[in-house]
Amino acid sequence: MADLKKRRVALDARVQELGVRIQHIDQELDSHNSKDWEELATEREEDEVLEGMGLSAQAEIRMIKAAISRMDADEYGECVDCGDIITEERLDVLPYTPFCRVCAAKHG
Ligand SMILES: [Zn+2]
Repeated sequence: MADLKKRRVALDARVQELGVRIQHIDQELDSHNSKDWEELATEREEDEVLEGMGLSAQAEIRMIKAAISRMDADEYGECVDCGDIITEERLDVLPYTPFCRVCAAKHG
């Protein structure tokens, strides 16, 4: 796969980006310690949103790191479920996906 190096660079960059985002989220959460009750309620709602964003960023990092190890193992671009080749079009949209389109649908 000719584009593998490019994909790897993109995935590495994405991990960095997500790492920075998680740091910002943590800082924002740490800064939320208002004494005002009304403000506290608003901040609590924001905290839930921020925590959700943090969790999805962490999940994405895990997926990307798994994709990078598949690159190291020379298995990148193959479906981990059925072993079929994952199409380039699909990898363009979801570069870290471990599944082909059919298996992804199966897994929901
Ligand atoms: Zn598959």
